[in-house]
Amino acid sequence: MKRQFIDITMNNKFGLLCDNRYLGHVIEQFSHENPGRIRHLYTTIQERYGDRFSLFSPREATIEDIEAVHSSFYLEQIREHAVLSDPYSYDRDTYLMEDSFVTAQLAAGGCLQIADAVMSGELDHGFALIRPPGHHAEPGRGMGFCILNNIGITAKYLRKKYRMNRILIVDFDVHHGNGTQEVFYDSNEVLVISLHQLGLFPFTGTPQEVGKDKGVGYTINVPVFPQFGDCEYTFLLGRLLQSVVEQYMPQIILVSAGFDGHRDDTISATLLSTQWYGTVTTMLRQYARESCDNRLIFLLEGGYNPVSLEVSILATLESFLAPEAPRVGVMYSERADRLLKDHPLREYWTL
Ligand SMILES: [Zn+2]
Repeated sequence: MKRQFIDITMNNKFGLLCDNRYLGHVIEQFSHENPGRIRHLYTTIQERYGDRFSLFSPREATIEDIEAVHSSFYLEQIREHAVLSDPYSYDRDTYLMEDSFVTAQLAAGGCLQIADAVMSGELDHGFALIRPPGHHAEPGRGMGFCILNNIGITAKYLRKKYRMNRILIVDFDVHHGNGTQEVFYDSNEVLVISLHQLGLFPFTGTPQEVGKDKGVGYTINVPVFPQFGDCEYTFLLGRLLQSVVEQYMPQIILVSAGFDGHRDDTISATLLSTQWYGTVTTMLRQYARESCDNRLIFLLEGGYNPVSLEVSILATLESFLAPEAPRVGVMYSERADRLLKDHPLREYWTL
């Protein structure tokens, strides 16, 4: 197998980023977050779409890129723990071994390259199929399988390099994106919307967490009940995007794309179908077209059943590759609507 076998494809100005070096973060002990999550997917993508790809190799995020989010003390801790014999010496979920840091640098750096390609107009949409994931990583602490906060590093990069000041982050991973929330909690330049299952790790992300100082109103959390599925999720995201996108008018939409809310992923009790991931992609394309000249980037977060992860990502890719994004119909869901009735976000946004 070649070291880098998949790259960036141009179809409908859509780019996909994969690289075999993302398999390099691995230990012998079991972890839900392991290279087997994406290994077969990479092969399938190569077989199915291989002739559309040209070779592209992600760069490593620089220390400067990373330190826009993470403390130098934390980076030092990663380096120290990466060489210890116990890969779980730092955290009980987030293993560290020799290649962990460079793999995480490539994950964040791959996102920055997609961001550059979107900003130059080379791409409209991009999907970075990276690991390790990032949305749980806080400025001073890695956790929940996440070492570097890829989406946070990307948003900071866009702010600094392109002077963007209205970045929308949508996080539909089944867990709360606590790290991303912390990075931008006091900022009104990045609006973070997270839908996540109530009562799951990391047990944060209540509706009352709305941001602080200038950032008040720019954090929106909608914890949902277990057993919610396509209808409720489409309704909630549809309502939120319809109102918030129109009022905020983002310059770009970044998505923490976690696939662990799939009904076959045992890490959660959420019941999303494979096709839902295609639907939400179509919906986000629609809002990106209407608000920000199509600029839309997905970053892979969770998804721990390799089979449901693969088919869900393939459904996502099909939606990205479809020439026209038709408007998604949103069915009313009473039990989902109840979550928005007294939601604190109404103090800051008109629903
Ligand atoms: Zn997750």
